[in-house]
Amino acid sequence: MATESLPGIGTLDTRGRRLNELRLSIVDRCNYRCPYCMPADQIDEKRDFLSPSQRMSADEIELLVRAFVRVGITKLRLTGGEPLLRKDLPTLIRRLAAIEQLEDLALTTNGSLLTAQAGALREAGLHRLTVSMDSLDPRQFAALSGGRGRLDEVLAGVDAAVDAGFASLRINCVIQRGVNEDQILPLSEHFRGTPHVLRFIEYMDVGTLNDWTPQAVVSAAEVRERIAQHYPMIPLSGGVDGTTASRYAYTDGQGEIGFVASVSEPFCSDCGRARVAANGEMYTCLFASSGVDLLTPMRGGADEQALAQRIAAIWSGRQDRYSELRGAAQARALPVRVQMYTVGG
Ligand code: SAM
Ligand code: SF4
Ligand code: SF4
Repeated sequence: MATESLPGIGTLDTRGRRLNELRLSIVDRCNYRCPYCMPADQIDEKRDFLSPSQRMSADEIELLVRAFVRVGITKLRLTGGEPLLRKDLPTLIRRLAAIEQLEDLALTTNGSLLTAQAGALREAGLHRLTVSMDSLDPRQFAALSGGRGRLDEVLAGVDAAVDAGFASLRINCVIQRGVNEDQILPLSEHFRGTPHVLRFIEYMDVGTLNDWTPQAVVSAAEVRERIAQHYPMIPLSGGVDGTTASRYAYTDGQGEIGFVASVSEPFCSDCGRARVAANGEMYTCLFASSGVDLLTPMRGGADEQALAQRIAAIWSGRQDRYSELRGAAQARALPVRVQMYTVGG
């Protein structure tokens, strides 16, 4: 059944930003414990994760996405925790891929389980894959995953994704000062000359678990300069890729690379992205301290239209621009903020 959009329903927020993209966490659990996201010593397995009944079912996820489509989103990214831990993932993707108005259906994964699942994801209709990779040094990689990840599994996962038909992947990398700065060049050299697009994302003060300091951020400009000293690059026309990354091409024709300056050059004025956690809570900013529960209305019988109206009402009242105000917000030291693994980046 084709979903009608809702003319007249408010999709602009208080700053005139249109809701155009949904980032949806389908599970909050993860098989890694990356210190910047889910540090093992601060996670309580019993207290910190949702029970299966608290998570949205596939039916609820489809209903919710259809409601967001009514409000105008055309892009959906599935994330986690680690989305590949969700057992019904191929079925879920097949159902979401059938929603005509979704022009882009992507998924972000740590890649550890990709070898076994890439074929099924492709077959189910997933359009694009992003794999996170912060190091090409096996020991450092393991440390950055909290001792749980293996680099060779993730590299094999990338190959399996290519074999399955995902021709060009995005590879996300977060550089932390004094931690994995030495990986800037090896990572760029590894992905130069491939169809994959490496994207360096600035380390952010998301959540409250990672002891972030501004000094730990290596700016996108610095990363770019370090690479350009060896491999000159030019900005690609269009500048940003419709999301958040500045796109560059190596001048020797060896492909594309991207930089997301989320801290040093905030892009709040263009941010049309909503987030929903696996329990159906909607967040209008990655740095929000609370979300709005959409699962209770769904379980109370709200249909697509009623949900769409709720979503539009939430979006119309949106004022968020945390990154533009970061200095002041840090100074106020907001005590409660949603965790990265809850909303998935
Ligand atoms: N588990 C999947 C993964 O790691 O790709 C999906 C969820 S993870 C939260 C999504 C992305 O957020 C990853 O690329 C990860 O590197 C990034 N991330 C986590 N904590 C971050 C932080 N403090 N600053 C910047 N990026 C972060
Ligand atoms: Fe898991 Fe991704 Fe967070 Fe690492 S960044 S702990 S892989 S959710
Ligand atoms: Fe969007 Fe919030 Fe990030 Fe600004 S800080 S770009 S409003 S998610």
